[in-house]
Amino acid sequence: MVSPLDDLPIREDLRGQKPYGAPQLSVPVSLNVNENTHGIPETVALAIVEKLAQATIGLNRYPDREFLELRQQLATFLGHSLLAENIWAANGSNEILQQLFSAFGGPGRKALSFSPTYSMYPNIARTTLTAYVEKPRNPDFTLSPDLIVSAIREERPGLVILCSPNNPTGTPLSLDCVAAAYEATDGIVIVDEAYAEFSDKDSALTLLADRPRLVVSRTMSKAFAFAGARLGYLAADPAVVDALRIVRLPYHLSALTQAAASAALEHSELLLQNVQKIKQQRDRIIEAAKQWGLTPYPSDANFVLVGGFKDPNKTFEQLLAAGVLVRNVGIPNTLRITAGTEAETTKLLAELALVLD
Ligand code: PMP
Repeated sequence: MVSPLDDLPIREDLRGQKPYGAPQLSVPVSLNVNENTHGIPETVALAIVEKLAQATIGLNRYPDREFLELRQQLATFLGHSLLAENIWAANGSNEILQQLFSAFGGPGRKALSFSPTYSMYPNIARTTLTAYVEKPRNPDFTLSPDLIVSAIREERPGLVILCSPNNPTGTPLSLDCVAAAYEATDGIVIVDEAYAEFSDKDSALTLLADRPRLVVSRTMSKAFAFAGARLGYLAADPAVVDALRIVRLPYHLSALTQAAASAALEHSELLLQNVQKIKQQRDRIIEAAKQWGLTPYPSDANFVLVGGFKDPNKTFEQLLAAGVLVRNVGIPNTLRITAGTEAETTKLLAELALVLD
């Protein structure tokens, strides 16, 4: 028996809402969710399997709730004198954000971000019963300390989320903006650095010392090519980690996830070696788009928001018909395109050239 969702006694505020749903289509060239399109090198895959095999023998027991080995590895990877106690991890940085909202947002609290930005922020706010406001960015999608500070003074949020580089625009964020946000609020400031490894700019990790309300969120889903494993993490004051222990589900990070991530981190150099190549493909997309009279926005990430399409939906469909999946994020006249391998970028640009003709 199937009963429509509307007939169920679902929470009133969830009625009529849609789940996150970027298309998962089987196409030759999939450039729509900012994945790293390079597979895991075989040597790393074998090392992961070996560690998974060891972990499998112990699956009769619950996993290590504190996953200190993994946290130590993440701290060493990040540097900046961070210790295991500064690190926390979860099933993707989406879960990290949800835990942060659960601990520091909630009824009577408000989160502030700057649009256009990552579409999951409002969804996570909704699920955690946190009010959510977005203030517009400058027309070129940049932010300034003044813009941020005046938005904070007006909205008095308990949580400020700054996405750096910003998804879906690729825009970098200067550290002045982060420092200004921190000074302007008594709340938590989250810098979402999901794409930081693709940027040459300084990370907000450099600001963590003496800022106990600052949180830097990271993920292994992008530069590490590990989206399928689901491993997001954060660096912050140990007290922030203590707060998250209260809201996380017991044993949230499975022994298999811990083992896979730990093995991957032992080979971080190899896994990150495609970052440079991806940046070259990103810059190739930007150059080609400029030559065709489109308006790509500067990007510090592994994707480009390209403006200047008269009918982005039509272009999206034409590319899809040619086997290339990109993303229409709803910003007028734009498409967001992930930088893939050299061959994928060649195919994308060839098909785009035909469509624009
Ligand atoms: N933050 C940003 C800005 C993202 O673009 C994404 C993924 N698209 C995430 C967080 C979440 O990624 P994950 O849960 O895979 O770490």
